[in-house]
Amino acid sequence: MIKLQNISKTFTVNGNDVHAVKNVNLDIQDGEIFGIIGFSGAGKSTLVRCINLLERPSEGSVIVNGQDLMRLDAKALREVRKKIGMIFQHFNLMRSRTVYQNVAFPLKHSKLSKEELDKKILSLLELVDLKEKKDAYPSQLSGGQKQRVAIARALANDPDVLLCDEATSALDPQTTQAILKLLKQVNEKLGITIVLITHEMGVIKDICDRVAVMENGEVKEMGDILEIFAHP
Ligand code: ADP
Ligand code: ADP
Repeated sequence: MIKLQNISKTFTVNGNDVHAVKNVNLDIQDGEIFGIIGFSGAGKSTLVRCINLLERPSEGSVIVNGQDLMRLDAKALREVRKKIGMIFQHFNLMRSRTVYQNVAFPLKHSKLSKEELDKKILSLLELVDLKEKKDAYPSQLSGGQKQRVAIARALANDPDVLLCDEATSALDPQTTQAILKLLKQVNEKLGITIVLITHEMGVIKDICDRVAVMENGEVKEMGDILEIFAHP
């Protein structure tokens, strides 16, 4: 479903090249939870942002559901991006909008009727167990609740894929477990493929099917979770 072929990304900072991602190949299957682990600065975030072209790779191709994203015009890319949800470490909610309005935001140009929209938003809030907070503002929520809102918002356009960039790194261990459980549910119940990046081994071990280990912009190892963590 997601094929990254020979992806490299170089940033130029003050005339110096930073090779954030170097010649990475990844094949992510439909329906799996794929983890990318590595230390800070390893290139994980840059790589995952290449999947929806938040970063444009310097080289290589990004194929999602058979489409080469680098070849799409702006309009076609907007359509493809609707099917790729994303959540972040610091949630990125809009602070002047309520929970309801944050979740409604990606549906602004949707063709659904007002009633259908309302039903959809309430069902998303139900999925993340936040219906009773629909009129609250982000500042009134805990970190875990904010991430639940972000998950509901990311699912609003019924994506095929959910990209999670250090989604539990700002949360305490107990809240991390609850969010991972929700992501697992999203994967199993809705059949959404999940790509998750983290520096936390526990997160990978808890929910990923396969994992890539990144170091200095390169994928050093890749395989089933059991294989990767089996060696001494
Ligand atoms: P990780 O997610 O594993 O912490 P990143 O992908 O954020 O790693 O960063 C990889 C490398 O690329 C780092 O050296 C970082 O400083 C650099 N980098 C990331 N984004 C930019 C940018 N927009 N401009 C310049 N350098 C960047
Ligand atoms: P706009 O950005 O177009 O001003 P809003 O984002 O404020 O609109 O709201 C979009 C729609 O969602 C409106 O029709 C509004 O009535 C409805 N809405 C907003 N907040 C809630 C809520 N907490 N509960 C139910 N409906 C809401």
